[in-house]
Amino acid sequence: MTEELSALYVVPTPLGNLADLTRRAEEVLRSVKWIAAEDTRHSGPLLKQLGSQARTLPAHQHNEHEAAARIIEKLQSGESVALISDAGTPGISDPGARVVAAVRAAGGRVVPLPGPCAATTALSASGLLDEHFLFYGFLPSKGGQRRQALTDLLDYPCALVFYEAPHRVLETVADMATVFGERTLVIARELTKLFETVHSCPLSVGLEWLKADPNRQRGEFVLLLSGAPKDADDGEGERVLKLLLDDGLPVKQAARLASTITGVAKNALYERALALRQ
Ligand code: SAM
Repeated sequence: MTEELSALYVVPTPLGNLADLTRRAEEVLRSVKWIAAEDTRHSGPLLKQLGSQARTLPAHQHNEHEAAARIIEKLQSGESVALISDAGTPGISDPGARVVAAVRAAGGRVVPLPGPCAATTALSASGLLDEHFLFYGFLPSKGGQRRQALTDLLDYPCALVFYEAPHRVLETVADMATVFGERTLVIARELTKLFETVHSCPLSVGLEWLKADPNRQRGEFVLLLSGAPKDADDGEGERVLKLLLDDGLPVKQAARLASTITGVAKNALYERALALRQ
């Protein structure tokens, strides 16, 4: 690149609530000469509201190579470009990754801005206690492939985060229940919008909950599942169990609390507690 200061700024935009645009994002969208947008018509009102004078160029799923070439040209002539998608963070189940890869490969500067992302927003309110999470994004749309993809995730000991479209949410939750049996399901819907809902329930009753009210099947969804239960013998369950028993808690209560704290299956801890008490 000829101009050191030119950069591709990766700019997250609100999921629904315009107040979630960060000040830095606002500054960048106002100051750059070019904005590469997933859908220039969709982003028009936001850019107009900001008073951005930038010119737009399309950077969507079907033209990423061509868009990348145009963006590299702009950067080489010393102009900065902001990359945005319709909502949330570009490159996260959205176009943008190829553009970023091409700019980096050409030696360009890529500056990421932190900001809205449906996955992390949902996770933060999920109440899931897993130490790790896996972001999966969209599952395959065909039933057989979807069930296979879910089966491949069966043993992952971390929270699983999926994006899903409203017309597939029922079948996806049904498949999750078939494949995973019992887990905690969190349905995060319409985040940051008027009908925002974050509902947590056992996976086995998730479908019933969705079907109970057609409104619960509308809008945009993040589905989260708790991770595979840890083995009872990984040490942590037993360590916490012993502490609680030593503190004088009854066997049943100690097993229940140790299970809640560590994620180890309650029955296994109950058996272990009985043995320890003897
Ligand atoms: N890049 C975006 C991000 O950072 O979250 C994701 C874009 S992806 C094409 C769109 C999907 O994100 C939707 O189908 C839905 O699963 C999820 N999503 C986007 N906005 C949402 C919202 N307000 N509430 C719940 N999920 C949302």
